Amino acid sequence: MQDCFVGLGSNLGNKRKNLLKALQKIKQLKETKIIKASKIIQSMPLGGPKQPKFLNAVIKLRTELSPLSLLKKLKNIEAELGRKKTVRWGPRVIDLDILLYSDRIIETKELTVPHPRIFERDFVIKPLLEVL
Ligand code: ATP
Ligand code: CA
Ligand code: CA
Repeated sequence: MQDCFVGLGSNLGNKRKNLLKALQKIKQLKETKIIKASKIIQSMPLGGPKQPKFLNAVIKLRTELSPLSLLKKLKNIEAELGRKKTVRWGPRVIDLDILLYSDRIIETKELTVPHPRIFERDFVIKPLLEVL
């Protein structure tokens, strides 16, 4: 079992409900337990087009899934919640990012861990510190 931190964000539809639905689905992943969840905070969009404010949170997981399998499951959950492909950093019903995975450093086409933009984003750092 490895410790891992996942960032959640939503700025379309019922944002709070989207975060809770994603949380519910992550809970249902067999090989994965949610250890801690941060408070939900509001943030201003960074980059991309003009768009609504976000709600964000970070959760701590303990998982048997490999980083890439976890990424795939998280992408499935995004799709199940109705996320559409749009412009980079555009509005989305749900965004699930792997922030940290144990002490692993990964740089592949599909996955960069630690997430490269953690430290320029207050809406990631603050909730991350809460669950670290
Ligand atoms: P940002 O990465 O700046 O937060 P984003 O979350 O809006 O941007 P997405 O469109 O959700 O970007 O994802 C684009 C691709 O990033 C995904 O298809 C995924 O393969 C890849 N990716 C690379 N590293 C990670 C990671 N640590 N967590 C989630 N996805 C990642
Ligand atoms: Ca993101
Ligand atoms: Ca993402």
